[in-house]
Amino acid sequence: MHILISNDDGYLASGLVALVEAMRRFGEVTVVAPEQNCSGASNSLTLNRPLTVQKGSNGYLYMNGTPTDCVHVALTGLLDHLPDLVVSGINNGQNMGDDTIYSGTVAAAMEGYLFGLPSIAFSHVDKGHAHLEAAAHLAADLVARFVEHRLAGPFLLNVNIPNLPYDQLREIRCTRLGKRHQAEPVIRETSPRGETIYWVGSAGEARLAGPGTDFHAVASGLVSITPLQIDLTHVEQLGTISDWLRA
Ligand code: MN
Repeated sequence: MHILISNDDGYLASGLVALVEAMRRFGEVTVVAPEQNCSGASNSLTLNRPLTVQKGSNGYLYMNGTPTDCVHVALTGLLDHLPDLVVSGINNGQNMGDDTIYSGTVAAAMEGYLFGLPSIAFSHVDKGHAHLEAAAHLAADLVARFVEHRLAGPFLLNVNIPNLPYDQLREIRCTRLGKRHQAEPVIRETSPRGETIYWVGSAGEARLAGPGTDFHAVASGLVSITPLQIDLTHVEQLGTISDWLRA
């Protein structure tokens, strides 16, 4: 099996290294990851300048682009053959509910999915990667399951792993995305040169976090796995908008 691995925390991130080491037993691995931290990059492509690929001393390929650039370039020209699986992560922090819209970790996997490949995004719930080996072990368990029981068709799985020792990761629960409150307000400061500068505030607290959601599973110490799709069409509003156009 050939696995393409990327992330959004950058090619030197410890979460990426742990994931790569966990994937090696399944066959060939190719790492194409961003040179710099691109958390929050979503599905952005770099279109206003060319991209370069370089090889780090750790053997990983890295690009001066976004997570989506990395997977896109890998799949459309860099690799000789399409991989069997695309994995992304392990992100330093959760990607649940609305986070999936902004996440570069999810976007890297989503790019694989857009090219018809099975793809999995892995995130570690609490920042700091406490119990990173356990998360990598869990990621390997899921990929081993994929090897044994192939799913038909492409799929995009969003996995959030609580920061617990491996023997305390009790169950992998299939969930739907929850929702957050609105994000915290932007933080306004004055730079040393007197300019007004803004820091984007933190994500909102969980709002829709009842049973069945990713938030609920993780809060219960369970690993959350959510199958994602991309079509943003609001099917229930098709009639309303058609009527509105006719009125
Ligand atoms: Mn990140």
